Amino acid sequence: MVGAGDEVSAAEREVVELCRELIAIDTSNYGDHSGPGERAAAEYVAEKLDEVGIEPTVYESHPGRSSVVARVPGEDSGRAPLLVHGHLDVVPADAADWTHDPFGGEIFDGCVWGRGAVDMKDMDAMVLAVMRQRMREGRRPPRDIVLAFLADEEAGGTWGARWLVDRHPELFADCSEAISEVGGFSVTVAENRRLYLVETAEKGIAWMRLIARGTAGHGSMTNGDNAVTELADAVARLGRHRFPIHLTKTVRTFLEEVCAEFGIEFDENDAEATVARLGSVASMLGATLRHTVNPTVLDGGYKANVIPGTATAQVDGRFLPGLEEEYFAEIDRLLGPNVSREFIHHLPSVETEFEGGIVSAMSESLLAEDPGAKAVPYCLSGGTDAKSFQSLGIRNYGFAPLRLPPELNFSGMFHGVDERVPVDGLRFGARVLDRFIGMS
Ligand SMILES: [Zn+2]
Repeated sequence: MVGAGDEVSAAEREVVELCRELIAIDTSNYGDHSGPGERAAAEYVAEKLDEVGIEPTVYESHPGRSSVVARVPGEDSGRAPLLVHGHLDVVPADAADWTHDPFGGEIFDGCVWGRGAVDMKDMDAMVLAVMRQRMREGRRPPRDIVLAFLADEEAGGTWGARWLVDRHPELFADCSEAISEVGGFSVTVAENRRLYLVETAEKGIAWMRLIARGTAGHGSMTNGDNAVTELADAVARLGRHRFPIHLTKTVRTFLEEVCAEFGIEFDENDAEATVARLGSVASMLGATLRHTVNPTVLDGGYKANVIPGTATAQVDGRFLPGLEEEYFAEIDRLLGPNVSREFIHHLPSVETEFEGGIVSAMSESLLAEDPGAKAVPYCLSGGTDAKSFQSLGIRNYGFAPLRLPPELNFSGMFHGVDERVPVDGLRFGARVLDRFIGMS
């Protein structure tokens, strides 16, 4: 969508092609090294950067698992650089479930279709398109920009962001702020009014294994110390538990903004009703009102007449920023004395302030392209590579600008079937991102 009198920029023309070509490179991440890896996509990105005079370095953490990092000099290299990162991997897709080939990158009904269209080859393409145009036109950003196109985000970043932060922290150490997924997308609240949700917080992740130990024995005899029974009780207690609503700073600000938008009184006790007003993104936002824990795997025993000595389960726990200790205290209380837990995966929560020059740049760049825009902070219930960069003291923002039509179920696109991104949204994103980089 181009406003009257505007010309279509090179970035706007190129972003769609770049997105389609990136989608066509299958980078499915199965959580181990069995997938195709990110190398082909990394080489593609490196070539696109190299073409315009940006010097990329490709890092390979494991054969085929590649990331690309480059530094673009700005007008004032004395300022702390801005990190702009995106992941190159995608979650797998089963073509049988899709209307169009998930690795086709084809355009239907005004959208680019395919795995990664919103998570997050769209943003990768925007960053490439905008930086390529800036380099061609000799428009330097105000400060240095560190570009990172990363492997393995979908499996926690072990072979991507985490690996780079551990092995090559000097690449990012002087960056003060970072932008990436999952934010900057619009939620329509009225015909000419859209909230753009900027991610400023993420819940922490605690995937846990629960272990119940008891007395093994014959299934025909009495047994007051049955591991399967203990485990089943504990799993049921966790699964049925509903943590109370606890509004973190980010979520409170978000809800206040939403209430102001709808002209309703902010009522802390009515947080769920407020979130429900936001339509299809409500399921994503509802999970940020409280801690959660969901049982996911059960395992115990091997024969109907043998009582096993141990039984195990797995649960997916997510805790709110700043409330980790309280969370685990409650989990332990629910588990009781006979069931222990260990981490399968434990990643911190993230939270930063929604203020300062970088936030003004987001608001202004959105407003310049959408007069009905209002940027608001929100908390993501999932996790991203921001968790790794936070450990270097970098302030993280989810800002991958996309103007979306109201009818698109955007949160359902993430890891979903028929993932797609509007062509207009991509072009809008490229325009906003270019303005943002010019102001940041
Ligand atoms: Zn993602």
